[in-house]
Amino acid sequence: MKNRKSIKLSLIVPFYNEEKMVDIFFETVIPIVKKISNDYEIICVNDSFADTTFELLKKWHFINNKIKVLTFSRNFGKEAAMTAGVDYCTGDAAVFIDADLQDPPQELSKMVEKWKEGFDVVLMKRLRRNKDSFFKRVTAYCFYRIINFMSHKMVEKDVSDFRLLDRKVLDVLKCLKEKNRFMKGLMSWSGFKKCDLYFERPARIKGKTKFNCSKMIRLAFDGIFSFSIMPIRLFTLLGILLSIISFIWIFYIIYQKLYLGDVVSGWASIMSIILFFNGVIMIGLGVLGEYVGRVYNEVKDRPIYVVDQELF
Ligand code: UDP
Ligand code: MG
Repeated sequence: MKNRKSIKLSLIVPFYNEEKMVDIFFETVIPIVKKISNDYEIICVNDSFADTTFELLKKWHFINNKIKVLTFSRNFGKEAAMTAGVDYCTGDAAVFIDADLQDPPQELSKMVEKWKEGFDVVLMKRLRRNKDSFFKRVTAYCFYRIINFMSHKMVEKDVSDFRLLDRKVLDVLKCLKEKNRFMKGLMSWSGFKKCDLYFERPARIKGKTKFNCSKMIRLAFDGIFSFSIMPIRLFTLLGILLSIISFIWIFYIIYQKLYLGDVVSGWASIMSIILFFNGVIMIGLGVLGEYVGRVYNEVKDRPIYVVDQELF
């Protein structure tokens, strides 16, 4: 193991239409990082096309060549941007940090201290979610409980992407080439020695959240379906249960026919049973489709992101 007295620190920052944040981000982060180590790099992954983020990043790259810029050919999403950051960073340890300063850079020195103590993964846990909207709090609460129930505690509760990873973990992540990416899950899957730090997540300073409802649902589905086969297993269990019930029912119908002579029973009950089971079958097919779709994506083997320009 490399001795951890000094560090080359990589920051991995995804930018998606963050023109309002670029200057404030570097003005805040650079002095803090310099205090930790003069050997650093800031890998900016530009995932945006609707504004001037790229021009601003370029300007900063020419001011400070430790700021490295990678721009995608289109918006590939935050998970792809983080993946690119992992592929390109060269530090002894890397920290994922959002461009909107919601992951307070003031915490970086504490994270590096923990790394120096020998931890390979430093997770940043949120103390409260009082700055989030009610909708985000409820969905996050449900999501973490569901995914942990389904994936045998694969994802730590209330841990954002803001975390430090040692080179060992980064090298493992580089080998995980799956296309349906849920980075939090992949990072937990890698294992290694972890520790938690707690932080208060401030509100976004400028700009709007880039995670709308459909992006959040997509991420939640990727998380659940790439880390658990429990949804499909639940359908197998449901199928077994329904078969047992039907079997008992058949005996009852035979009994009715032989002893009660009352064979024409209600239309309503038959209709409700048909409708109910049709619903169950459709959901089952949908769940199956989620897995088949993911297998299809993996088989196509397209790259996770396409790089247009590199300023290194
Ligand atoms: N982001 C990205 N691609 C996307 C969406 C978001 O690179 O498709 C970046 C965004 O620029 C920011 C980080 O991911 O640096 C977190 O996004 P945001 O602040 O909108 O998410 P929230 O904090 O609301 O969960
Ligand atoms: Mg944010």
